[in-house]
Amino acid sequence: MFTLHRFHGGLHLDAHKEDSSLAPLATAPVPPRLIFPLQQRGGQNAQSVVQVGDHVRKGQVIARGDGPMNPPIHASSSGIVSAIEPRPLPHPSGLTDLAIVIDTDGEDLAPAPEERPDYGQLAPEELRRVIFEAGIVGLGGAAFSTAVKTDPGHRPIDTLILNGAECEPYITCDDSLLRNFPREVLEGARILMRVLGVERCLLGVEDDMPEAIRALRETREAGDYSNIDIVTVPALYPSGGEKQLIRILTGREVPTRGIPADAGVICQNVGTAAAVYRAVGRGEPLIERIVTVTGKGIKNPGNWLTRIGTPIADLVRYSGGYSGVAERLILGGPMMGISLPSDALPLVKAANCVLVTGRGETTGPKQALPCIRCGACAEACPINLLPQQLYWYSRADNLQRAEEYQLADCIECGCCDYVCPSHIPLVQYFRAAKSELVAKQRERTKADHARERFEARQARKEREKQERAEAAQRKKTALAKPDTSEIQDAIARAKARKRPPESAPTTDAAPDESPPAQEPAEN
Ligand code: SF4
Ligand code: SF4
Repeated sequence: MFTLHRFHGGLHLDAHKEDSSLAPLATAPVPPRLIFPLQQRGGQNAQSVVQVGDHVRKGQVIARGDGPMNPPIHASSSGIVSAIEPRPLPHPSGLTDLAIVIDTDGEDLAPAPEERPDYGQLAPEELRRVIFEAGIVGLGGAAFSTAVKTDPGHRPIDTLILNGAECEPYITCDDSLLRNFPREVLEGARILMRVLGVERCLLGVEDDMPEAIRALRETREAGDYSNIDIVTVPALYPSGGEKQLIRILTGREVPTRGIPADAGVICQNVGTAAAVYRAVGRGEPLIERIVTVTGKGIKNPGNWLTRIGTPIADLVRYSGGYSGVAERLILGGPMMGISLPSDALPLVKAANCVLVTGRGETTGPKQALPCIRCGACAEACPINLLPQQLYWYSRADNLQRAEEYQLADCIECGCCDYVCPSHIPLVQYFRAAKSELVAKQRERTKADHARERFEARQARKEREKQERAEAAQRKKTALAKPDTSEIQDAIARAKARKRPPESAPTTDAAPDESPPAQEPAEN
């Protein structure tokens, strides 16, 4: 019997999962145009390695980053690069950034996939390299480089956790993945365990996903996966949060400002594990993922195996288009997703759900009232924070106090917002305060570097001044107390230079008394 642990707070929410989970998984057609923003994750920009007019193949690298945090981006179908230009990012800021646009040719040309049946023999570093080159990032929404996450450095790791606890309402892409590709997920788990050198894997699935649990258990029994435990966890939001799932499955707490590796655990989304298997086992880069398209504003909700770079408008079209009541377009779930201004934006690797809400389906922004200090937000917070306090300090721009109240630990789950009877948009305040803290930290780092440079310059000047003073002192001392031996030596050398050569005749007579030179006698 597996012992589960509880985390503080959390919410039981209406799931709304049946809308999309009842339809079978479908494969989305190749869209006429694919768009790849070069900024795939906040602050991480890749550089294009193709030019306008190039013909690219499916799976070809089209952009590369400048370090392990920034894996390459691959074309998800063949076609011509028609533009590399600023396009809006799928981000609430509405900012634009460079994107590669590919007009697809309908051929879907790709090199033959490279079979790697012997991946069990590859060393962890080689596996990490393959994972990086395949462009794999966390598919749970964070889009963190998987190669980096599977390299915990000096921290000892004993457990791999696979996150299949899809806790946000509406989203069913992980459920669909587990039902349709359980073997890929378990093989991916095996590869990740080899990379990490761990013997234990816990795969957490919410108890409202019975078909996924059945598919996983059957696959586990049929194969050699005895060191992977399939564990059902209660459907309580946000049990799919990394820290909450670690707490539920192991009872361990990730320390404040720490990462799961500090608790001896590495956590990966089940979609990431399947992508790792496809990359390592079949040589396929990350060019597609399952995306849920759902909500009352969509005619035919469902899950689609979709190419990365597909415009949201195309995916909505494949789903029958908007229904008459469509109101809001959200990328992600209703709790942590972001409202989008347009469906012309493309799907990036982190995109798990397109939610189009119908009128009155989700609560939009309401008039905020004063805080009544009811404490409901603190009761709901899964991190055990004091949202009310954080709100006061964020609002008053007292970032130091907000920091002391562990603002950085807030996972922006929205539980506090959801329960607040005064409809205060708490998470908005926390996001703004966090951004300001990051900006201030950046300024501090810049100022620290400037100060260090100034101090180093001052120290160098001081040192040079000191050296000059010491040299001057040495010279002065030398002049004041001449070294007689040196002077004597110099005099002796001067005398020696004036002395006639030893072979010449010598005389004691003074030079003016020397006899005149004798003529040789004539015989
Ligand atoms: S739930 Fe809202 S009203 Fe209640 S204490 Fe928290 S912020 Fe104030
Ligand atoms: S958004 Fe932050 S403060 Fe609010 S409940 Fe979630 S973790 Fe706690």
